[in-house]
Amino acid sequence: MTQIRKVEVTEVGPRDGFQNEKNPISTEVKVALINRLIDAGIPRIEATSFVSPKAVPQMADAAEVIKGIDRSKGTIISALVPNARGAIRAAESGVDEMVLFVSASESHNKKNVNRTTEESLQGFEEVARIAQDAKIQLHGAIATAFGCPFEGDVPVERLAMISKRFQEMGFVGMTFGDTTGMATPKNVRAGVRAVRAAAPKLAMNLHFHNTRGVGLACVMAGLDEGVDKYESSFGGIGGCPFAPKATGNICTEDLVYLLQEMDIETGVDLAKLTAIACDVETVIGRPLPGQIMKAGHRLELHDMNAVRTAEG
Ligand code: ZN
Repeated sequence: MTQIRKVEVTEVGPRDGFQNEKNPISTEVKVALINRLIDAGIPRIEATSFVSPKAVPQMADAAEVIKGIDRSKGTIISALVPNARGAIRAAESGVDEMVLFVSASESHNKKNVNRTTEESLQGFEEVARIAQDAKIQLHGAIATAFGCPFEGDVPVERLAMISKRFQEMGFVGMTFGDTTGMATPKNVRAGVRAVRAAAPKLAMNLHFHNTRGVGLACVMAGLDEGVDKYESSFGGIGGCPFAPKATGNICTEDLVYLLQEMDIETGVDLAKLTAIACDVETVIGRPLPGQIMKAGHRLELHDMNAVRTAEG
């Protein structure tokens, strides 16, 4: 059993989830949901992405979203930044943290941003300078950390090499992103150990997808390895381009439920979080994969007359 008693949960739904939504979601709705997440006690939120508005119209209002967020509780507001142009916009908007993405797999990085991994890492140096001048902290994210749809397993040496570069560039933290849902408890343990040895100063976050049903099992493996930071999305929104019908991110309410039931402190109000997820489902207009939002807390008592007894 893990020794971890406190976990930091990062909500990535407003970025990782909404980014994939075709129908425009208004700035007001995004800001209201983010402010409710803050009220529910979420300590870190990936709020938006400063990508080109032409490439991702849903994120065109990035600066307006950041400006509307309630900053009174000290919640860390982070945003994805793909290049120097995005970094300048992000710095002007007043984010607390810039998140820089690179794929561990060469072919995935090439397909994603048409650069080699090394070219991406070199590009980060310019972004890092902009962030450091603006006194904004930097966070690195490694996509396809646990497997690539084109190359298969990713050697842990790649994870170690990239995290070492993050540390050298002065990044505060890093995330292992399970972009295509290929993490398993076994490769999570191996990856965490390799990166700990290579970049011990980086705060480590794990970001799992539940594509193959083992998302929370991977969280358990991470907890056993001493990792105390996890990323998830409300209702489990966020898709996976390589498996159209598959589930994306692990769900924040399901994660918080699991942690609470293990007596691990999150500071998050599960009832408020569940209400937010139900409203996100209304905004999106289709059923979301979250399970607590459907079944409720296990100790939520029911009227005896309203529940049919099971036969099987
Ligand atoms: Zn994700």
